[in-house]
Amino acid sequence: MRGRVTALATLAVAVVLVTTGVALVAQQRSVLIEQLDEAIAADADRLVDELGTSPTAADLVIAGDDDAVAQLMTPSGDVVASSPSLAVTSPLGEIPDGVGDVFATSSSIGTDDVMYRVLSRLVPAADGRTFVIHIASPRDDIDETVGALVVSLSATVPIVTGVLAMLIWVLVGRTLRPVERIRAEVAEIGRSGLDRRVPRPPGRDEIARLATTMNEMLDRLEVSMRQQQRFVADASHELRTPLTRIRSELEVELSHPAIHVDADGSDPATLRSMLEEVEALQRLIDDLLVLARGDESDDIDARRPVDLDDVLLDEVRSLRRTGVAIDVSHVSGAQVVGNRDQLRRIVRNVLDNAVRHASASVTVSLSERRDTITLAVADDGPGIPADRQHVIFERFGRVDESRSLSLGGTGLGLAIARDLVERHAGTIAVDAEYTLGARFVVTLPKPCLPG
Ligand code: ADP
Repeated sequence: MRGRVTALATLAVAVVLVTTGVALVAQQRSVLIEQLDEAIAADADRLVDELGTSPTAADLVIAGDDDAVAQLMTPSGDVVASSPSLAVTSPLGEIPDGVGDVFATSSSIGTDDVMYRVLSRLVPAADGRTFVIHIASPRDDIDETVGALVVSLSATVPIVTGVLAMLIWVLVGRTLRPVERIRAEVAEIGRSGLDRRVPRPPGRDEIARLATTMNEMLDRLEVSMRQQQRFVADASHELRTPLTRIRSELEVELSHPAIHVDADGSDPATLRSMLEEVEALQRLIDDLLVLARGDESDDIDARRPVDLDDVLLDEVRSLRRTGVAIDVSHVSGAQVVGNRDQLRRIVRNVLDNAVRHASASVTVSLSERRDTITLAVADDGPGIPADRQHVIFERFGRVDESRSLSLGGTGLGLAIARDLVERHAGTIAVDAEYTLGARFVVTLPKPCLPG
């Protein structure tokens, strides 16, 4: 935008300057030629006044102007007399049609290639005859003056255009700087929540008004997002209590079938399936609550140094009973600063997915690089097709609906993991190069050590 505005404005300035320059040169030339014509006409008047009946070359010397020459002709085209300094014998100009001066420009008068301005006039002589007088004066002074003007304009126009282009570039940059600041802030808002506002430049110009309008829009967005989050949180919370009750009733029913036998006799298999469904619903509601609480649960004070290897090994231990072999030989000590519960949730969601999808084994690695800590979880399961890798981090985004549902997932695990990872200024992605199954890579920033 800055480049485009500068280019267009510079082009407009250049066009205006060049047009003005051309007009100035043309006007200067015509003024100078007019002055020269007046001087030639005055010479002609003087010469004609002093002309006798049989003029000679000596009569055609123009006093006070060595370079001007005169020629006298009969109306039929015969040269009667010429100035002594005139090098050519041919007529200097046309025979005029009537009374009055006719001016023309000629290049075939001097020995050099100087242009001449030529006056032609019919002159009645005292003896009743008519002569034609031509007076020619070189135009080189005018051409030199105009040439000098063209040279100086050709030098100044590009310099002025260049200086103006720089000025426009700086001014447009200064004008657009608040717009760039607003854009950067909006990009940041997209990443880190709706509680930030764009900077409002001082004054009441269009950019200040744009910033105000944008902040008002962000206010409305924030309110509506909070209302939506509160609704989901309240609804999830309300659903928890009846579900807990149903779950405990089902558990009691299953553990004491003899005591709680219905009239029609409940089938334990049906009860178990109902219990599974209730458990799945509870997991879904827990996940919804985590997502809905969003930033509210993000207590900055709860951020402390956390040994990620401890959290990881804890989670691995709780998954041992699943029968999937989990290789932790590549886990080294690594500390991050963050919310312990949220970090545990990230590890659990990724690890739980790996164990659920693995055929036989899962490999976990934790390593420290220069600025980051990298956690990688690989399994030997079916993997994630390249075209679905962007979907699985969406809420309820699944590779294959039927397969995932049968594995008991809620479809929110990775969405939550990504949310929490981003709140810790990290990244989570599928390793697209890995072909033996699925490999998830989480990177988190290494804490800055004091000093
Ligand atoms: P779910 O609770 O359904 O597992 P997630 O958000 O955790 O939801 O994962 C989204 C989808 O990503 C899953 O439904 C599954 O299709 C796919 N997925 C996640 N982890 C793996 C994995 N290790 N191997 C294969 N597919 C996976």
